[in-house]
Amino acid sequence: MSSAYAPAVAPREIPGRGVGLIATRDIAAGECVLRERAIVCGTSVAFRDSACARCLAFTAPDGAPLFTCATCGLAKLCGGDTCAWSGMPHGKVACHAEGLAKGLPPPDVERLRFLAACADLRGENSEASVAKLHAVEALCPAVGPNGEGVGGRELDAARRLHPLLETAVARALAGSQIAPIADADAFDATRRAVAGSVFDAARLLAKETKNAFGAMAPRDVQSGERRVRGGALYDLASRVNHDCFPNVARFDNFDGALEKDAFVLNRADENVARDGVARKSLAPDELRLIALDRIPAGAEVTMSYLPVTEPLPRRRRRLRHTFEFECSCQRCRVEMRWAREDGDRVGNVDEETDVAGGRCFSSSSGASDSFMETLTNAMDDEDDERMAALSPEELERRSDRVTPEYAVWFMRNVCPVTDCGGTLAPPNATATHMTCNACGFKRTDDAFYAQLRGEEV
Ligand SMILES: [Zn+2]
Ligand SMILES: [Zn+2]
Ligand SMILES: [Zn+2]
Ligand SMILES: [Zn+2]
Repeated sequence: MSSAYAPAVAPREIPGRGVGLIATRDIAAGECVLRERAIVCGTSVAFRDSACARCLAFTAPDGAPLFTCATCGLAKLCGGDTCAWSGMPHGKVACHAEGLAKGLPPPDVERLRFLAACADLRGENSEASVAKLHAVEALCPAVGPNGEGVGGRELDAARRLHPLLETAVARALAGSQIAPIADADAFDATRRAVAGSVFDAARLLAKETKNAFGAMAPRDVQSGERRVRGGALYDLASRVNHDCFPNVARFDNFDGALEKDAFVLNRADENVARDGVARKSLAPDELRLIALDRIPAGAEVTMSYLPVTEPLPRRRRRLRHTFEFECSCQRCRVEMRWAREDGDRVGNVDEETDVAGGRCFSSSSGASDSFMETLTNAMDDEDDERMAALSPEELERRSDRVTPEYAVWFMRNVCPVTDCGGTLAPPNATATHMTCNACGFKRTDDAFYAQLRGEEV
């Protein structure tokens, strides 16, 4: 018999931090705090030909290769029973948008895919699709019905992309793929209802920017790079706030990582997704948040939106530009004190005007993507150079002031694999090892204790 699944967290308004997730009971290290499937997924431009447009998997559940969408001839699909919930292989609007996206700059292609996926939810108008659309709308309540929280970046993008979205909707309707339409007026009304307004698009894009998770591809064997295969939005997980010392780690299943370790404790129970269908394996778009440590009831559950190994100025800049908040978590406060002692940058906004040659802006939302990217990368490079120029004595002085708690956190939770940057968590509450959420590396607790005692492992 399967029991109803209940997450160990609930959304709650948190003073000064918007909505976050609070532990509804005491949670042990290694416990699954939350598991859920994505509301919508979208591939990044570089992965359109290798990842399923609906679930971002690289193969069908049985290992068979993806097939090309017969309608658009562009998107790849896995066709698995764990993939599209609606039974449609490729979203109808998404299918037409794919052809229209040709030639757009990559961020706009990805935005158009997301807007088309939302239009498909509207057009489908089933119980499941309406619930998903509501879940998207409910994210990031700071973006209100009157446009509060919509930045210039999203509004500009919405204005550029809305005509294409309307065309995609019109073509989907004309192909009678959504519903047969009696006359021109009805056609127009339906087209407008399914496409939504420019303003709806801007709101959705703002929610997507702040709430979507980047789904990583495995490290490329040749280049050594890890690239983003796509983005996914979740109902509850997208509401988890950031902390540079997080208490949960996110594990994705796009490549079946949750099947490769002891994450699934009760298969009969856990394979029943929230749509109530029992399956042989977990869906590729299933996400789990696993507790790194004990989390007492009432405490906020936090994750890191960036690899925890990112240095202070880079973390704070990226959090500001992408997520539009100033991180002042405990770790940032300690590291800012150190940086000020050392005369280093702390990632404050006033430092950016220096590098931008006096160019001033109040927030990232008015600045163009490419400008912000160039600026952030230039500043990252400079910080890297400063670090590389430090003498061994200076590096030793800096590491000597690190407190034992701080050092142990990194030793316990940061993946030791070179350049991985992943987080280690126990796959369940009674596990005697920890697993990396990025590369799958496993370390036994015995090896960790030996390392703490200073023994060679
Ligand atoms: Zn799929
Ligand atoms: Zn298609
Ligand atoms: Zn922080
Ligand atoms: Zn790793």
